Amino acid sequence: MLNIALFGPPGAGKGTQSERLVEDYNLHYISTGEILRKEMAEKTPLGEEARSIIAAGGLVSDEIIVQIIEKFITDNHQAKGFLFDGFPRTYIQAYILEGLMIKLHGSLTCLINLQVPEEVSVERLLQRGKSSGRSDDNEVVIRNRLREYNEKTLPVLKFYKEKGLCHDVDATASIDAVYESIKEVVEQELRKTLLNVVIFGYPGSGRGSQGRALAVKYGLEFVATGPMLEEEIAANTELGKKIQSLYDSGQLVPDEIVVPLIERRIENAGDVKGFIFKGFPRTLVQSYILDGLLEKHGSSISKVIEIDVPTLELIRRLDARSKTDRCMPYDSSTPKIVKRLEEHEIKTVPVIRKYNQLHGVAQIDGKGSFEEVSARISAAMEDTSHAP
Ligand code: AMP
Repeated sequence: MLNIALFGPPGAGKGTQSERLVEDYNLHYISTGEILRKEMAEKTPLGEEARSIIAAGGLVSDEIIVQIIEKFITDNHQAKGFLFDGFPRTYIQAYILEGLMIKLHGSLTCLINLQVPEEVSVERLLQRGKSSGRSDDNEVVIRNRLREYNEKTLPVLKFYKEKGLCHDVDATASIDAVYESIKEVVEQELRKTLLNVVIFGYPGSGRGSQGRALAVKYGLEFVATGPMLEEEIAANTELGKKIQSLYDSGQLVPDEIVVPLIERRIENAGDVKGFIFKGFPRTLVQSYILDGLLEKHGSSISKVIEIDVPTLELIRRLDARSKTDRCMPYDSSTPKIVKRLEEHEIKTVPVIRKYNQLHGVAQIDGKGSFEEVSARISAAMEDTSHAP
């Protein structure tokens, strides 16, 4: 998700610049000021409550703003990203935005601070006032809006500067030049955005081999919990022995063992473009853990893929694999194979269902040759309609 907040005093050009950003980056635009003006025009209770405050150039209450933003975000939860104009406008609203982003399983990508001296703001707003029809575009109210900005809104910058998300742009230049500067910031942020893929499928669906190939193709770090646990077994560590006995009884390895291993992998990955997770998350609890692990790195899930293979074909493949040297410790007998399929059905299918509701899951037909399935997955990777 690409989530941008456009920041700056009244008259900085937030509305003007938003139009192009929304189009170029396919974002959902939310201007709290615009929504409030619409509510006022429709004489709704919310509009009536805000009217006198806006007319005086003050800031409406955080309660009203939360209602507006929450409704917009909930109505548009499938959006690829949001562009916030006029929000957050107080230090409190910055925290509110954090909470709303968690709800969306995303985070604010950057805040772009459009800088203009006060007199330029006043001049532009007076000019706009000649045609905007806005009751708050007159000199007395403009001065009040700027005072509110200096007192209540400027502290928001501190919040984002501390998080390293604030980018200053000189907004006194021409509209085109300012847009170029904004675009530079966004492109730079996009290059930093990690591509995080989760690949699902029943055991035997080919998610391991496909995931590994996908990682190579897109320059991602392949994080497969199975092989990570096997490394421990092979090293015959205490942890390895514990894992072995869990495998022998066909049980899932507890989160206390898996999570630190994944955490270490993410931390040690260095300069990668993103991660592809296979075999994790396997339970609803683990799906929350993954959100937490990614959020710690200012990141989130970008894509969820499920490879779909009919059950009989799965059993045929697993049985065939058990007779080769690719046999995994956990597919050496029929009861173990059945147990793993069952674990997937009971514990992992609800996770896929959750992701489907949240962001959509790209369903891949897993029948056919490796290359055929691989081509289908690549097509899904390019298709942005399943990007959370
Ligand atoms: P704008 O269109 O962003 O200049 O907003 C016009 C007016 O709406 C402001 O002067 C405030 O009275 C009110 N307003 C807009 N957004 C907010 C916000 N996030 N918090 C408080 N008041 C707001």
